[in-house]
Amino acid sequence: MGNKELEYVQEAFKTNWIAPLGPHVDGFEHDLATYTGAGHVAALSSGTAALHLALILLGVGKDDEVICQSLTFAASANPIVYQGAVPVFVDSEEDTWGMDPELLEEAIKDRIAHGKKPKAVIPVHLYGMPVKMDEIMAIAAAYDIPVVEDAAEALGSTFRGKACGTFGQLGILSFNGNKIITTSGGGALTGNDEALIKKARFLATQAKDPAPHYQHSQIGYNYRMSNVCAGIGRGQMEVLNERVAQRRANHEYYLNQLGDFPGITFVIEPEGFYSNRWLTTILVNPAESNGVTREDLRLALEKENIESRPLWKPMHLQPVFEAAPAYENGTSERLFDQGLCLPSGSNLTQNDLDRVINIFNEVMQPQKV
Ligand SMILES: *Cc1c(COP(=O)(O)O)cnc(C)c1O
Repeated sequence: MGNKELEYVQEAFKTNWIAPLGPHVDGFEHDLATYTGAGHVAALSSGTAALHLALILLGVGKDDEVICQSLTFAASANPIVYQGAVPVFVDSEEDTWGMDPELLEEAIKDRIAHGKKPKAVIPVHLYGMPVKMDEIMAIAAAYDIPVVEDAAEALGSTFRGKACGTFGQLGILSFNGNKIITTSGGGALTGNDEALIKKARFLATQAKDPAPHYQHSQIGYNYRMSNVCAGIGRGQMEVLNERVAQRRANHEYYLNQLGDFPGITFVIEPEGFYSNRWLTTILVNPAESNGVTREDLRLALEKENIESRPLWKPMHLQPVFEAAPAYENGTSERLFDQGLCLPSGSNLTQNDLDRVINIFNEVMQPQKV
């Protein structure tokens, strides 16, 4: 937390706005729109809720197909199934680890050949690194398929100067506890079509028709953000740039200290890509690292009580999505085998970082121990 969150929360208490609406909700939406350049923003209870509403707004229903990046967290894909629709997974490319544009086009053509045009495409800005959005948007536009951008991990990231989450017809953000800023739990839906975002707010507050009594013509949801959480969010917006700078400094330090080890590689920002470096991730290729594997490093860190994690396990390899169609090129599977998320918190001290580096030095250069 920064310094202002408690003040905003106290204001919510003092004014008795303890509800899933109120001045902080409006203020937080305004802050997010200003920061990202999104035309309109709806503050919601989670990023997952935002994705669910996005699919509803785009008319995704039973037996429809929705293309989703395979290498991601399950929350990118689960809302497709909430709608009774079928996820179709598309693999990643090597540069950014995001959805492979060529494979996307192949998948779209093949689904159309199978008699079903996908209803939406969900690319994911993974670990803060923007997807190749120009190519993805061009392909989606060529086939007239709307894009829902999963920017849950990418608040503060930009592609060619434009904020992640503002390219697609709709975009989603997350303020879950593990994200770059948090409202304890929360999310947002972004878009330029005001009518769609208004409709999202309507559906998120139980779809109440305008009437003195409770009247409903549609199925609604309890997905709105509370005024208390939005108060935290307003405080967090004031430290967002600082958080991005801290995360990027973590990445820079790891890169400088570990980048020369044979077999260890980092994701470098291509020209025009700016990542918030939410998590610093590396690949460990045992063919080049004298046999040292990702697991050797993870377990050595764990022994010192330092948590690191493999990358997201691709959705097309998850038991729950076994039956879903998938367009693979082997990239996400290899990334999953070799990838490691390093400790990346905004509050890591120099000493914390050096503890990690020391363990790498020991494991990578056993002769020097
Ligand atoms: C965290 C996350 C979500 C879900 O956000 P919640 O606010 O936790 O529901 C969706 N997609 C990705 C890629 C995420 O990392």
